[in-house]
Amino acid sequence: MALTGIQILKMLPKKNCGECKIPTCLAFAMKVAAGQIEIGECPYVDDEVKNTIGEASAPPIRTIKLGEGDTTFTIGGETCLFRHEKRFENPTGIAVLITTEMDDSAVASRIENFNKLEYERVGVLMRADLIAVRDAKNDAASFSALVQKVMDGSARANLILMSENPANLKAAAEIAKSRKPLLFGATSANAKDMAAVAQEYGLPLGVKGANIDDAVGVSEELLNSGLKDLVIDTGARTIRAALEDNVVARRSAITKKYKPLGFPIVTFPCEMTDDPLMEALIASVLIAKYAGIIVLSDLQGETLFPLLLERLNIFTDPQRPMVVEENIYPLSGPGENSPVLITCNFSLTYFIVSGEIESSKVPSWLLIKDTEGLSVLTAWAAGKFGADLIAQFINKSGIGDKVKHRDLIIPGYLATIKGELEEELPDWNILIGPREAGHLPAFLKEWKPAK
Ligand code: SF4
Repeated sequence: MALTGIQILKMLPKKNCGECKIPTCLAFAMKVAAGQIEIGECPYVDDEVKNTIGEASAPPIRTIKLGEGDTTFTIGGETCLFRHEKRFENPTGIAVLITTEMDDSAVASRIENFNKLEYERVGVLMRADLIAVRDAKNDAASFSALVQKVMDGSARANLILMSENPANLKAAAEIAKSRKPLLFGATSANAKDMAAVAQEYGLPLGVKGANIDDAVGVSEELLNSGLKDLVIDTGARTIRAALEDNVVARRSAITKKYKPLGFPIVTFPCEMTDDPLMEALIASVLIAKYAGIIVLSDLQGETLFPLLLERLNIFTDPQRPMVVEENIYPLSGPGENSPVLITCNFSLTYFIVSGEIESSKVPSWLLIKDTEGLSVLTAWAAGKFGADLIAQFINKSGIGDKVKHRDLIIPGYLATIKGELEEELPDWNILIGPREAGHLPAFLKEWKPAK
């Protein structure tokens, strides 16, 4: 049962030293109770207290960390059914499948796509996270060789090692142990031996259920053997079954605190269809509904990008708008005769507008006004982007010292405040920019300072 902040506080040393980067023990206890910080951040709690509090305050879906250092990838840690209740914590891992039955060129192509398909959006680098290596021939030598090839081919790939043969899995784990991979393939037939391999290497283990009831049985057996870090495959290989299982598992873990299903779910869209577009569609449903990892048959830009974008949207905190700092942003090395534009601090707006300005190759000053993450029209309607506030910002920003001219380009959607802004900023010439960021390059190329 979850502990309250006060119950946790009673077990803390109460030094109020701030070494946990929280000013007081009370505030720290409240954050631990809310699942916002790990109890281990306080260096003064002993192991017994750590275990007591850690177990009691652990999220109902266990947090599993794969990889080491910069490439650490976290799944699970979820605490709610719907993102608007709080937020979804750790984005679904996107994996590509490579098997020992593939020829060298297919393997090389999948590794190459894994390495090269990267996209930047609102300042976030988006890319696939894992390579799942399957022992399709039940052969330790070819499986180990493939694991080594994948490791050599991608320094950043987190790994899922898939085999139902404990000896083969152990040989692969020995090769890949520095990457802290996920071992996968524990069934009702091999659970004991698989648990021994996972325990020996201190690695998380994936349950491979024939169906959700079977997965629960294997999960219980592994929990009883002392394993704590599990990932579950419910055996579903149709979109309908996978969706149902994911919902049942998440509900059981969150609302009933049902331990055997309190782990991230790994799903296999790659085994649900041969049609790449249908596979992407299935993956998109499972990203939205609770998959901890999705394994795809291949990575192609036209299907990976929308999945990454969907993941980015679903796993952003709905209670905290994505913002950029209020500031003057010099783009492409502007000077005293460069245009001055202003917009809101909703990060999507910033990245779209700055991207268009940069693509225009017209060096410019972009002023970002704090609108609490609201977009232009919403901010204006909410009274956070009116003429008075814009004028205050322009006057205090220091932009007047950076340019000789006094042209200020405002978003086209703010055309109605032009007159008001001219009254507030009598020294400035207010120009109405385009409504769509895509029209900025043409606008900027034609711009000449009026005074
Ligand atoms: Fe309290 Fe520990 Fe944080 Fe110090 S580090 S303020 S003792 S919780």
